[in-house]
Amino acid sequence: MSVVFISIGSNLGNRVQNCLNAIEEICSFSKLSAVSSAYETEPVGVNDQPWFVNCVVKIETALSPLSLLKQLQDTEQKLGRRCKGTLEPRTIDLDIVFYDNLVFKTQELVIPHPRAHKRRFVLEPMCEIEPDFLHPVIGLSIRELLNQLVDSGKVIRIGRLSTTYPQKITTYSQT
Ligand code: ADP
Ligand code: MG
Repeated sequence: MSVVFISIGSNLGNRVQNCLNAIEEICSFSKLSAVSSAYETEPVGVNDQPWFVNCVVKIETALSPLSLLKQLQDTEQKLGRRCKGTLEPRTIDLDIVFYDNLVFKTQELVIPHPRAHKRRFVLEPMCEIEPDFLHPVIGLSIRELLNQLVDSGKVIRIGRLSTTYPQKITTYSQT
């Protein structure tokens, strides 16, 4: 089994519900081991877009990196993602941030995610669940990356996401 961190984001429709739905879908093909809080985050690199809701989940999976990417893309489609481009609002965006300590680069998949270490909206939620995880290329922990980060995009914790076992129902509360 491999340990994988997935970044979840939504800035269209019911953003928290979209993230909850994504987590439940992810549970159908992998074992969920941790979920960060939900954060409201300022869009990075674009101005006229709604703010996102973001979180990070930790899973254990037997899927290969490319099979996992396929599952995540199928989930994006199932949850109604229509846009293709990076700079458009999206119902749901699912990115593989880390896959064990793997360094992997093909046309369709790059691991670690090439921009994750520069994004507060990925590092803050991940720091909550695994601050000591070492970036396999940079060699710094998530906490260290966050401390030296220049991204000024606002990231505001808005509530708790909790998953009940064994039913695997994920809920949101503003606490
Ligand atoms: P972004 O997530 O960068 O805002 P998209 O979700 O539209 O943009 O993704 C664009 C492409 O990024 C996908 O088609 C996918 O093949 C590729 N990609 C490369 N590396 C990754 C990764 N680590 N996780 C998810 N997608 C990735
Ligand atoms: Mg993506």
